Parts: sequence; C-alpha cells; structure tokens
Amino acid sequence: MTNKHKVNKKQAKRILLLLVLLIVLIVGIAIATKPQKETMLTQFSPTTGRQMMGYAIQTDAGKLIMIDGGNIGDAQEVEKYILDHGGEVEAWFITHIHTDHVGAFTQMIQNPDITIHHVYASIAKRQWYETYEPSRKEDIDSFFEAIEQNTIQEKIEEPQVGQIYSIDNLEIEILGIKNPEITENAMNNSSMVFQVRTEDTSLLFLGDTGEESSQKLLDTKKDKLKSDIVQVAHHGQAGASKELYQAVAPKIALWPTTTWLWNNDSGTGEDSGPWKTKETRSWLEELNVQENYLAQNGMQTITIP
Ligand SMILES: [Zn+2]
Repeated sequence: MTNKHKVNKKQAKRILLLLVLLIVLIVGIAIATKPQKETMLTQFSPTTGRQMMGYAIQTDAGKLIMIDGGNIGDAQEVEKYILDHGGEVEAWFITHIHTDHVGAFTQMIQNPDITIHHVYASIAKRQWYETYEPSRKEDIDSFFEAIEQNTIQEKIEEPQVGQIYSIDNLEIEILGIKNPEITENAMNNSSMVFQVRTEDTSLLFLGDTGEESSQKLLDTKKDKLKSDIVQVAHHGQAGASKELYQAVAPKIALWPTTTWLWNNDSGTGEDSGPWKTKETRSWLEELNVQENYLAQNGMQTITIP
C-alpha cells in the first residue's frame, strides 16, 4: 500500500512536470509566431534626383496609409512598395497638389492592381490655383485632368480642421487645411497639416507649409503642435517658421530632401545655392533634434513605438 502510494506520487510529479514543460513550450511558440504589432513609417527616396515627398505608414494591424508620394518619376518606387504590401491603400492623404507631391499618386490611381479606399485632400477651386499660381499651370492641369478622368474623384473627401480619423491603432487629427485667403506662396501655404498619433508617439506632417500658414497654425492650434517626429516643411528650406518648429519641439526630423538641397549645392559645391536649408538645419539643431532622416539616403523604414 505504502509502495503503491509512493509510485503514484512519483507518477503525479512526472505528469505535473510534463504539463509545465508543455505550457512553457506553447507560450513560447505563441510569442515567437505572434503577428507584427508595430507601427512602421517609411520615407520614400527621390529616384529622379528632384525634390519630392512621399511617406507610408503601416498600422499595427497592417493597414496601409499613404502620404503624398512624390513625382511621376517616383511612381515605380511607390507602386512596388504598395504592391509588396498587398496592393491596398486604406487612406491616401494629399498635402497639396504640386507635382512633387501628387505626381506618383496620379499614376497609382490608374493602376488596376492598386485599390485605394479613401483619399483625404483639401483642394481649392481650379480657378483659385490658376489665379494665384499661374506659373504652375502644368501641375494644376495634370492633377485635375488625372482625377477628372478617374473614379478616384468619388473617393476624395475634404477634411475639416479638428477632424480625427481613427485607423486601427492610429489617430490622425487635421490641424490645417487649404487657406484660400493666403495668396502669397499660395499652393504651399494651402498644405494640409495633420498629426498622426500612436499610443506613445506623435508625428506631424507639414507638407510644404510656408511662413504665413505657420503663423495661422500658431494662432489657431499652438497647443496641438507638439510632436515627437516632424516632417520638415517644404523639403527643408523656406518652409515653416522657426517659431513653428519651436512649438513642435521634435526629437526626430524627417527630411523629404535631396543631398544637393541638404548641402545647399547648386552644382558647384556646398553653400553654392540660394536655398535656406542650412537655416532650417540650424533651428532643428538648436532644438536638440536627435535624429535626422534624409530622403536622399534611400527608402528608410522606422518602427514607431
Ligand atoms: Zn514640394
């Protein structure tokens, strides 16, 4: 009787140990094969040598959000990226309709392998663009012709200031839209400005925001501007004001900028150009920005906590 008891106890111990091992194994496998639960930000690279701006954000559940996209010449890079990520774009945010922002977009909307569910853009009347930026007639014509000949028109929604879009783990708040009353540097100053937020991180997209729209943002949304990551306005030169960057106080800066623009090099060496990139660089240095991501250094993807 005593012996039998001993054996049973031994067996029970063994079974318990096996059970514990099994549980450890199952939990281990579950952790190892867990789907990616991270937000990823990709900065596209200028493939033509010309300045451009394009970003993609992948939500923690894998949905794809596009922001601008660059020139027509960058379309191949953008197309490959979208197709590699399933061919489906949940939302496409357009900051403004200059061709270095929407050129690739006008190509993607004609691609039968790509599905775009929503387009968020604050677009003024065609006549307004033609009146205040007659030198960009070609840009204006090619954008309006592309959307007029395409079913994408039905998917374009006009966001309002203060509007918040929730897409998976992200909140996207619109801080600025078109500014028809600002006729100086008209199209850039009508860039849509928005903040993308995860639980822990905020990213501010400025498009090609100029000085006048910077002032308007400071007047109307100053308490909303603070962000961990900023997309530097107008490719890093003659864009947003110093005061705006001070209000943003970013830790990381995304530069949709070519090397020649970064170095202010018009072809005969550093500082030979007329651009104000170095001024913006010095402002961000003063603000102790820890990391700068330069688009010219190739397509880069970073994890957003
Ligand atoms: Zn631009």
